[in-house]
Amino acid sequence: MTTQGKEIFVPSEEFMTSFTEQAITWVRQQRNQLRPNSKGLTQKEKRVFSRFFDQDLLDSARFAHVPVIKNPDFYKGFNSIPLLDLEQVVAFTFIDTVAEIRNSAIGTKFHELVHVEQFRQLGVERTVALYLKQWVNGDYDYWNIELEEDASGLVAWYHSNPQESFSVSEEVAKRLETYKLL
Ligand SMILES: [Zn+2]
Repeated sequence: MTTQGKEIFVPSEEFMTSFTEQAITWVRQQRNQLRPNSKGLTQKEKRVFSRFFDQDLLDSARFAHVPVIKNPDFYKGFNSIPLLDLEQVVAFTFIDTVAEIRNSAIGTKFHELVHVEQFRQLGVERTVALYLKQWVNGDYDYWNIELEEDASGLVAWYHSNPQESFSVSEEVAKRLETYKLL
């Protein structure tokens, strides 16, 4: 596989299994570290989001401010692939807890809450495994990860007509059905 003339490393099954296991552990650790210093949505935000998200998701989601989303330590063992540089992102979701480098705009919060819904429907292990599979299959390009496209697409739908209501849980379920799950 080549991209712009550069050899791209095709990982073995063992490589991906090990990478995925470490990523799952890291996601759980980050969630548990961030959770105690995180805040829930405001009543106003909950009112806006209640036309799109289930109430129990809105009640359980938390946001934690961090100076930077740090790349995981386990990356060191996997530098033969072009890793996602998380230090470039403004927010990242760990199960039901979102790390953000500043108080996010409503669209960013919406996007991250879609990821919370993906985690709810698939569970942490399958979400991380699917995310990484889509990332590798998409030539290690963040913009080719369908779980990201789904989140961004639903935000675009919301922005195109904020007065319209739709169910994120139904939309996420429809999209997940189309992927070849593990
Ligand atoms: Zn995202």
